[in-house]
Amino acid sequence: MGIVVQKFGGTSVADSERIRVVADRVVETKKRGNDVVVVVSAMGKSTDNLVDLAFQVCDQPAPRELDMLLTAGERVSIALLCMAVIDRGVNATSFTGSQAGILTDAIHGKAKILEINAYRVREALEEGKVPVIAGFQGVSTTKDVTTLGRGGSDTSAVAMAAALGASVCEIYTDVDGVYTADPRRVPSARKLSQVSHEEMLEMAAAGAGVLQVRSVEVARNYGVPVSVRSSFVDVPGTWIVKEEEIMERAIVSGVAHDVSEAKMTVRRVPDRPGVAAIIFRSLADAAVNVDMIVQNVSLDGYTDVSFTLPKTDLPVAHAVLNKICKRIDAAGYDTNENIAKISIVGAGMKTHPGVAADMFTQLAEVGVNIDMISTSTIRLSCVIAVDQLDTALQAIHDHFELEKLPKISARADT
Ligand code: ASP
Ligand code: MG
Repeated sequence: MGIVVQKFGGTSVADSERIRVVADRVVETKKRGNDVVVVVSAMGKSTDNLVDLAFQVCDQPAPRELDMLLTAGERVSIALLCMAVIDRGVNATSFTGSQAGILTDAIHGKAKILEINAYRVREALEEGKVPVIAGFQGVSTTKDVTTLGRGGSDTSAVAMAAALGASVCEIYTDVDGVYTADPRRVPSARKLSQVSHEEMLEMAAAGAGVLQVRSVEVARNYGVPVSVRSSFVDVPGTWIVKEEEIMERAIVSGVAHDVSEAKMTVRRVPDRPGVAAIIFRSLADAAVNVDMIVQNVSLDGYTDVSFTLPKTDLPVAHAVLNKICKRIDAAGYDTNENIAKISIVGAGMKTHPGVAADMFTQLAEVGVNIDMISTSTIRLSCVIAVDQLDTALQAIHDHFELEKLPKISARADT
């Protein structure tokens, strides 16, 4: 019997009643003979509330102090969960990120895990206890408390599973798995029983909000099998596993969308070497997270450059471009916030030509104009008008018959 890491998100520990339900599940897993390690998020909306508080006392919270404040949320939930587990006759010990040996770099607010020295966690396991670890936090190389970015408990859990060589990392959340599309927008969406690490990574990056992107990167890099499931209903969830282990192989596994981005176009940019470098270096230095980039063909020595970015980065991007446009002699810039990105993801796309053409044809048939396109080996994304998103999602989902189990059972390239 191996080690099982169980991660419970904020909604799963939102109140005392739910904490008792989580304690029941932990105790039951332990009594089946497993070594159980638990990672928890802060209760309900408590991280949001702490962020609000910070902005009530100042305009620009000092990053170190903000991390100190936010890590308090997870401290509350680890202690309460331990009390409830102990009350059920199973010994449990809580650990902050620092006590659990989660060492990070010193970038407050989005620290990266450098290593995990989990000896206290192992010791607790050897003593038959359930270690309950605060998610989303660590301690930096300079001995300060850090956080891993919003949603970071997923990453804490997967990284801990990798460090302990756990047989599985179970992510308990408020949805019961990963779907072929967002079921709130596409009623015929189907729950996937399995998806590969690579596909999940692309889906998460394309806007499927089930897991923090970095947690999926860690799972892929260390080959950790992850199971996403509901903490409210006891139904099978979705397994995220190595590609070789996937039984049902589809060309397209799912269609994801993202409405959190905006598009900016810098107009009449002089077409000479170094100009794109100036634009994107300036945006990067201001920590603007640019996603897709398109440069139009040059006409009479000028070109338009468009890119997408998170809407939350717009104020900073506007300030940067106000300066840059003058410096590079561009005519100006436009901003469009009414866009959506729609992406199809599937490992089978690597070996099946024509998937892109299929997607474009479907969008054309329902009258959806494509604004920008970007691809990876297993993902194809289009920027479209946000008011056409539901039409586009349904058309693509129907065309690739995602509501049905995939027909292809063997890998196309074997
Ligand atoms: N409590 C943190 C947040 O709300 C971390 C997490 O939930 O994963 O972002
Ligand atoms: Mg979360």
